[in-house]
Amino acid sequence: MFALGETGPVSVQHTRTNSSWILVCEHAGNRIPDSLGTLGLDKSDLNRHIAWDIGILGVAEKLRHHLDATLITQPYSRLVIDCNRHPDDPELVTTQSDGTTISGNQSLSPDDRQNRIDHIHTPFHACIETELDRGEKVLVTLHSFTPAMTGAAPRPWHIGVIYNRERRLANSLLRILSAMPDVLVGDNEPYSMNDDNVYTIPYHAERRGIHTVEIEIRQDLITDEKGQDNWAALLARVLDQALGKSIEPPL
Ligand SMILES: [Zn+2]
Repeated sequence: MFALGETGPVSVQHTRTNSSWILVCEHAGNRIPDSLGTLGLDKSDLNRHIAWDIGILGVAEKLRHHLDATLITQPYSRLVIDCNRHPDDPELVTTQSDGTTISGNQSLSPDDRQNRIDHIHTPFHACIETELDRGEKVLVTLHSFTPAMTGAAPRPWHIGVIYNRERRLANSLLRILSAMPDVLVGDNEPYSMNDDNVYTIPYHAERRGIHTVEIEIRQDLITDEKGQDNWAALLARVLDQALGKSIEPPL
């Protein structure tokens, strides 16, 4: 799938110390492998929220420095393959997104689909496994959401705390963020998570029983460097505090 010298399917930035934090961005990038052209999309479509999580890579890189975390990111667009979906999910390679038809994904052969899994999804998740195997870890996935999605109600939240069965870290974070007068936090909003609609957290973290949470930040708050700085600093503070509370023994 990839030409010689083309960007690989996963990027890892390691810690200096053996920190327990692992940050993952499945939708950090909007690249398309050269062999797939543009998937039939205009450049402007590739810069929209349908292709990637706008602003989140900047937040994640700054947060990584605050926490001395390992950061694992996906450079290729979720329109090529969505690395936060199960390999069997029909939406793994989507044929349309927020009203835009992805012509390069129409009538994909099983071989073409498997090729994207083998070259992007599989190595990306193998990398997460390797990093989690290094010791007692906490897995935080980072995303951003568009404030306006066709057919959906407006999304007023600044930040969403998204969780499935493992809720210790999410519960602590929700308590801390809800007490902040300037922060409007969504409790499993703008999305809720289940075993079928999300892959990384159920597959890697809940299977291991480790602390985990997915965080969503509204895109218009993190389009510039200042917004990314502010949210990274706030996240570093509240994640550290929330983890401390999550691992306290019950009274
Ligand atoms: Zn995302």
